[in-house]
Amino acid sequence: MIGPRVEEDPVELFKDFLWSFADRDGELKYQQAVGRMIMAEQRSLVVDFDDLVAYNPSLASRVTDEPDRVLPLLSSALEAVVKTVRRDYVERAGRLFVRCRGAGLSTSIRKVDASLIGKMVNFTGVVTRASAVKAYIAEGCYECPSCGQTVVSPTAVLTCVKCGHRTKLVEERSLFDNVQLLVVQEETSALSGGRMPRAIEVVLRGDLVDTVKPGDRVSVSGVVRPKKVRSLYDLYVDANFVEPLVKEPEDLEITQEDEEAIKRASQDPDLVDKMASSIAPTIYGMKEVKEAVLYMLVGGVTRQAPDGLRLRGDIHVLLIGDPGIGKSQLLRSVAAVAPKAIMTTGKGSTAAGLTAAVLRDKETGEPYLEAGALVLADGGVCCIDEIDKMSADDRSALHEAMEQQTVSIAKAGIVATLNARCSILAAANPAFGRYLSNRPLAENVKLPPTILSRFDLIFIMTDRPDKVEDTNVASHILKVRSEVRPSPAFSPQFIRKYVAYAKRMRPVLTKEAMDRIAEYYLKLREAVNEDSPIPITPRQLESLIRLAEARAKLFLRDRVTVEDAEAAIRLMDYCLRRVARDEMGRLDIDVVMSGKPKSQREKMVKILEIVERLQSEVQGPVHKSLVVEEAKKAGMDEAFVEQALERLHREGMLIQPKTGYFKKV
Ligand SMILES: [Zn+2]
Repeated sequence: MIGPRVEEDPVELFKDFLWSFADRDGELKYQQAVGRMIMAEQRSLVVDFDDLVAYNPSLASRVTDEPDRVLPLLSSALEAVVKTVRRDYVERAGRLFVRCRGAGLSTSIRKVDASLIGKMVNFTGVVTRASAVKAYIAEGCYECPSCGQTVVSPTAVLTCVKCGHRTKLVEERSLFDNVQLLVVQEETSALSGGRMPRAIEVVLRGDLVDTVKPGDRVSVSGVVRPKKVRSLYDLYVDANFVEPLVKEPEDLEITQEDEEAIKRASQDPDLVDKMASSIAPTIYGMKEVKEAVLYMLVGGVTRQAPDGLRLRGDIHVLLIGDPGIGKSQLLRSVAAVAPKAIMTTGKGSTAAGLTAAVLRDKETGEPYLEAGALVLADGGVCCIDEIDKMSADDRSALHEAMEQQTVSIAKAGIVATLNARCSILAAANPAFGRYLSNRPLAENVKLPPTILSRFDLIFIMTDRPDKVEDTNVASHILKVRSEVRPSPAFSPQFIRKYVAYAKRMRPVLTKEAMDRIAEYYLKLREAVNEDSPIPITPRQLESLIRLAEARAKLFLRDRVTVEDAEAAIRLMDYCLRRVARDEMGRLDIDVVMSGKPKSQREKMVKILEIVERLQSEVQGPVHKSLVVEEAKKAGMDEAFVEQALERLHREGMLIQPKTGYFKKV
């Protein structure tokens, strides 16, 4: 009888590999790994495929070409080795498995096709979906009720091999194991240009179950298999190994050359201006918005509070503005320069929406958990256009996603908390079609104040006619379209790498910077007296710190300076002055929170009373100037009274029989 020569027998080869493979330091890597596996009572041993290639290339290529034949042999070799160390362990643990990190042909999800059926492949991607954990028959015991013949098999044996009778499964003598289905989607770099990402189903078995979750970037190695769907076959991957990735995607690898260029650029005192104007260079102006976006890309420092609470470093920015002023275009440009970005709309690009959802498989009806945009954007930026159109479910889940940066879900037997550690750049359209500057923010946008208050910066972008501005816009547009195009200081590719590099910094606040921020904060707080509104809350203090830290990171500094603090204050002040004004022009966060300044409602009631009193005196409609005169005596200024009259008229509380004259209904 001619058997395989010992040197070609996978079992003997693999045993020798486990006993003798030494890493660069001469350590017997897998002897130690087997020891650790037994100590930790694990059922599988993870082998780096590259080690196997180095040890015996032909054994490695057999793993690639015929994994279903070779992997069980490697597993039995592992069991044999473990038995010589701890005989009882194998008996107790049951079957042991060899899992190969990076095994087989390196490919991409897009390239998995019929030619790879039965082969071992590896690829990376993002988990978008995970089913509940179910059990499957790893080894079934099938018994014939007629003649008593039993067969043990991983696949169903429906008829008796001896007499042809129908068999039945003996559950107590069968071996069940866990199984979970994932959908893994290819990662798309924003620079690859709007291509629809492809996805593939991945089956996890045994101890691989629940080791990754939706939103994770993962590396998968496994065997490509066909699955019958009606008359055709879908391809899926039966995973041999899966693990979350920590490495940056390849297109973000920063070479020594890149690093030098980044460090050089960081020395430029005009860095912020130059880089900000390089974001969406075809959009004119928006200086402050672009500066804010730049800080958002880099983010502040995430901290652990002494009570264990996580303080987010990510910066959330909201743009509210008239349609047609380039909000969507800006969002797309930001997605292109962010190291990682998800572009979506308030309605959501998938059924999972912005956060996450438990959905049911169309064919099997099985529930699965699908990650929404904020979960997929974990570690990056989520650009949300028309955020005011989000669903009610997302609306209620968004608070947690913005502050704790997690998405919790418990539905149909699936309980999970997913990470959503991303910054949000959102755009919203004004509720009335255009932004009405005489109305408070909360009326101008269809978002609850509790969500509005979680944005670090809110920009109101109006398309107001302005001659100087118009001339500038026109000449900018002409320049962009002409031959002598103004070239941005930095390319999108460079900004992506720069941001990825700067994100790693962890600057500390200097006392001077802290003092400057505290000074601004207290100055605004000081305005608080019995009657006046609360001008600023601790939320804005946290935002200021994040913005200052982001600026320090951008300059690759390990300390936050007074200049950083001042830049943060400038931006915050710019936004607050447009968003949170009461009728006297004072800063008032209540305007954001409740939509109305504290004292405004009382004053409106007062004005109504004045109109009522005057109209009974003059026996008819009252001229505006009379109301103003009376209201001034009550301490209200003319501009406010005029606005109030207009508003009461709009709201139907007053009628205007002729221009300038008002009458209470
Ligand atoms: Zn039989």
